[in-house]
Amino acid sequence: MKHLKKPHWQILIALIAAVIAGAWLRTVPTESAVHQGFITGSKFVGDIFMNALKMIIVPLVVSSIISGIGGVGKVEGFARLGGKTLLLYTLSSLIAVCIGLTAVNTLKPGLEDGKPNTTIKAAIEQEAANLEDAGASKEKLERVEQAKKDGFAPIADIFKRMFPPNIILAASQGQMLGLIVFSILFGIAMTRLDGSMGQTMQHVIQGVNDIMITLTHWVMLAAPIGVFGLVTPTIAAAGGEIFYALGRYFVTVLAALATHFLVAMPLLLLLLARVDPVRHFRAMRDALLTAFSTASSSATLPVTMECVQENAKVSQRVSSFTLPLGATVNMDGTALYECVAVMFIAQVLGYDFTLATQFSIVLLALLTSIGVAGVPSASLVAIVVIMQSVDIKGAEAAIAVLFSVDRLLDMSRTAVNVFGDSCAAVIIGKSEGESQILKDESAL
Ligand code: ASP
Repeated sequence: MKHLKKPHWQILIALIAAVIAGAWLRTVPTESAVHQGFITGSKFVGDIFMNALKMIIVPLVVSSIISGIGGVGKVEGFARLGGKTLLLYTLSSLIAVCIGLTAVNTLKPGLEDGKPNTTIKAAIEQEAANLEDAGASKEKLERVEQAKKDGFAPIADIFKRMFPPNIILAASQGQMLGLIVFSILFGIAMTRLDGSMGQTMQHVIQGVNDIMITLTHWVMLAAPIGVFGLVTPTIAAAGGEIFYALGRYFVTVLAALATHFLVAMPLLLLLLARVDPVRHFRAMRDALLTAFSTASSSATLPVTMECVQENAKVSQRVSSFTLPLGATVNMDGTALYECVAVMFIAQVLGYDFTLATQFSIVLLALLTSIGVAGVPSASLVAIVVIMQSVDIKGAEAAIAVLFSVDRLLDMSRTAVNVFGDSCAAVIIGKSEGESQILKDESAL
């Protein structure tokens, strides 16, 4: 029974319980008090869990980066770390997008007997009509507008966000890039402090970091309840005619994500870091399950940092830099998904894209995934942007259809996003000569 005490077992059991509860709720009339009470209660505990995770992010990231810089030593060492990280992030996202493009061109989920799928096309046309009737779709439009505000930034804005005019505001809005840059500068300046002053600051900030890690442990004690609360409403709400019509689309996305997760990233781990991928999967179990349940790589960040540092044994110096940056700019699953989604909609609407257009979709997916925030459904806005760039008409109507079935796919791509960041931390750590990484089986 000892292993049942480990968080990943408890979270897994909670996930299974949520699937059972969600399936049961589907048999209970939606307007009944039992159904509504259950959903409201589940969402309530789910929201509290998400909030508790998010509560930790800002102090954890800031203290972790600043105290990590203390160990980086010279600024040149830091530039090398940054260069390697960005190179690796670009490489893994590029591989992901190529896998997505291959899958969607091979399985052609938008076609039925070689012709555009009429059920899905009709659903998109219906949504387009709804969108014209702004009253009927007000809620959806508002959601898209909100997502634009929360979840997606164009490339030029990303550079501006690196230097926020007000660091407290940036922190309160969860704008990670600004916080990362500020913390790096703060950390470097701190290494210039004289003698005891520098040491005192280092101790205080390391202390804050240790406290945040303890808080993460505490929040994770409630993970099974939180996960149950987050996943039950998703299962209860999944379904409907369009859900089944999109079956092949689901299979395509999941197959491509699985290929990246189970083949491409393990190969990178083997080739570039010479570590056992199975060990790394085991080290990351809690973070993967949390990412899957929350559909938010930002909210998962404290757990990702804990798994990478405590289980995989990557140093704080490397992980405190690569992981927060990764949760913000490196989204393999999202880039892959964007590519599949755009090509799928193109197939449904009867567009036949040339190789050159497909190449620009690959580039756009790479670039826009950088601007997607680590929050649920954030990539849908990026998909609209790509569709508009390659002149697909009715992008917003198509997104409304995808939005209605997005959550399960979002959960899966978020797990892939988090896994990508963690693999990068391991590979970079190894390249920096950290021989302790994934060496000790007993830590897993
Ligand atoms: N939910 C994803 C994440 O947090 C972003 C997205 O693809 O919508 O990583």
